[in-house]
Amino acid sequence: MNKNQLDLFSGSSDEKDIDEIKTLIDLLLKYQHEYYVLNKPSVSDREYDSLFDRLQFLEKKYPQYASENSPVKRVGSDLTSELPDVKHTIPVLSLDKVYNIPDLLKWIEKLKKHSLSTPALIIEEKIDGISIVLYYKDGILERAVTRGNGETGNDVTANVKTIGAVPLKLGEKITVAVRGEIYLPLENFNEINQSLDNRFANPRNLAAGTIRRIKSSEVHKVPLNIYVYEGFFKDIEIPTHYETLKKLSDLGFRLNKNVMAFADSDSKISPTSNFIPVAKITDIASYIAKEIKERKNLDYEIDGLVIKIDNISDREKYGYTGHHPKWAIAYKFESSEAESTVKSIDIQIGRTGRATPVAKIEPVEISGSVVSNVTLHNQDYINFLSLSIGDRVTVSRRGDVIPAIENVVEKGVHESHIWKIPEDCPFCKSKLILDGAHLFCKNELCPERVKGQINFFVSKDQMNIENLGFETVELLVREKIIENVYELYEKDLSILENYEGYAQKKTELIKKGIEKSKEKPFRTVLSSLGIPDIGPKVSQLLIDAGINSIEAICEIAENNDTEKLLNINGIGEKTTESFIKYFNDKKIRETIKRLRKAGLIMKEEKAIVSNINQVFTGQSWCVTGSFDNFKPRTIAEDEIKKRGGDVVSQISGKTTHLLCGQAPGSKYEKALKAEIKIISEQEFLDLLK
Ligand code: NAD
Repeated sequence: MNKNQLDLFSGSSDEKDIDEIKTLIDLLLKYQHEYYVLNKPSVSDREYDSLFDRLQFLEKKYPQYASENSPVKRVGSDLTSELPDVKHTIPVLSLDKVYNIPDLLKWIEKLKKHSLSTPALIIEEKIDGISIVLYYKDGILERAVTRGNGETGNDVTANVKTIGAVPLKLGEKITVAVRGEIYLPLENFNEINQSLDNRFANPRNLAAGTIRRIKSSEVHKVPLNIYVYEGFFKDIEIPTHYETLKKLSDLGFRLNKNVMAFADSDSKISPTSNFIPVAKITDIASYIAKEIKERKNLDYEIDGLVIKIDNISDREKYGYTGHHPKWAIAYKFESSEAESTVKSIDIQIGRTGRATPVAKIEPVEISGSVVSNVTLHNQDYINFLSLSIGDRVTVSRRGDVIPAIENVVEKGVHESHIWKIPEDCPFCKSKLILDGAHLFCKNELCPERVKGQINFFVSKDQMNIENLGFETVELLVREKIIENVYELYEKDLSILENYEGYAQKKTELIKKGIEKSKEKPFRTVLSSLGIPDIGPKVSQLLIDAGINSIEAICEIAENNDTEKLLNINGIGEKTTESFIKYFNDKKIRETIKRLRKAGLIMKEEKAIVSNINQVFTGQSWCVTGSFDNFKPRTIAEDEIKKRGGDVVSQISGKTTHLLCGQAPGSKYEKALKAEIKIISEQEFLDLLK
């Protein structure tokens, strides 16, 4: 970069950007080598893609600094010197990509540049394998060539010939170049990978390593397969992609069945045989949602979908960059995995005293959220992973569940060491005791346990004590102002005013919140005691069964009347055992006595809930956004629960409804993708009527 060029920009941020371009190019070229040639990527695809997107952005901003070598301009090369080079006779490029529906719609809108209406489109699955070009001359397979750098690839003909689904001779004496993806079915990958000393992270890497082996006899042992998706015919002109795919199928090639055509009245697919189903352009978003949902049932990996213009002569109008065709785009799925490094491992003590090891990792984005803490469950799990601090690990968030460490990718400084949970509770120093698979701090006065119990009691889903947050609970426990939930009602919390940040007004609000919580119904008081297995659902079942006062509950516990409990539909042995044990426990009894004395409600008439029509029974509702009629929105959640529905905090496969208020956030998009019923505030009000 010369001085004059630099002077074109003012300010140091431009200089920084220009330096970043160089750094990004070097880094991406290194990652490409690890990925394409060594088949051992050191970063996740998502991480690679976000660096790629950043470079693309910077190169657009400063085109004069974009180098010809830039990964944005050229296809990542998988060329290896160990195999012969062959020049491609067709363009063998990568794909441009989008990650969400709005960006895809923008791309589709842009297609109208060269035609008045939206052109007919074909959507295929994007197979996550290794790209191959099969060259046939007069119907005979002459060469199979890897993508290489897009212009030149490696000759892997002998290896590809071992794949049963690749026809060696076609039914017609035709000259054609066929693009396809070689992949390893998931079942075979799991079986083969388990027997290897050096395991591969995914089927793609194993397939890529296999296809570039020097000895074809070894390739034969790996049951690779192929799907083809493009054909470039020499002597015949085929006007559409639809007909190309049909022709390839007629010639004996293996095609993926999950293909769909999309057209409008003025962008017809012709001729329409039944070879590929046709839908309307406006159905694209719901088709993508369906594909995302069904992806987990496939026996091969896909990392997205490919949307392509159907008309071949139209494609030429759009043309190519050095990296991708402009007539196609990949809709990439969010990766549900990423790599990170374990920085430290902490022990968390829960309200029951359970000690849970939690890994603090370098923050990493997975499925749209940043993950920095990952639970490690117990020592068995840590042993299973052979995990230590400093290790590089794969973190998953599959199906939107709690993040988990899947495996160690590379050991850190503690080569052969496995991290051990300390013998003592880090908060009260008492010995941790093994109970089943978990260690427990049994000290009832352990400040961390007390804090957990109080935080649970005051939380939104329990007594919902307004204005009493984690920080205040922390202070109250640390200063030994309270050591049990009933002391919230017994102690004069004006004492808080002596502490910084607790002016009289704030303290009054906390006291008011505590006072208001005395109005909470008995079922909430019951589930707020934090007794294992006695949550909101069981509390409700007890009350519905007529066990609707604390006296009735204590009497059953004293008489060990398990039969009465087991007769209630929905209450099993585990809950019964917990009920009898804890309602006979001296400490719980003391808590109940003191809470009653403080004025909390200890009885509930069955009629309160049973009068309401249970219209939401069997439904699972998620609530997002803010509402005019439900402030806080837990009021809406209570209305759902009262009518027999479940309320969940995250969208999952089991969620049936999303109650959507104003400014809904990511749950809205997730619900759309998962085709979950979305209910507006007004619709909800109508349902409540
Ligand atoms: P790509 O994998 O994103 O997409 C292009 C490829 O998709 C084509 O070359 C083709 O082989 C394949 N494909 C599968 N099904 C297809 C279909 N139906 N129609 C058309 N093509 C289909 O692009 P790429 O250039 O091969 O790889 C880039 C991607 O690889 C990056 O986005 C990144 O995710 C990953 N990568 C990761 C690292 C890393 O270090 N983790 C490094 C380099 C690349």
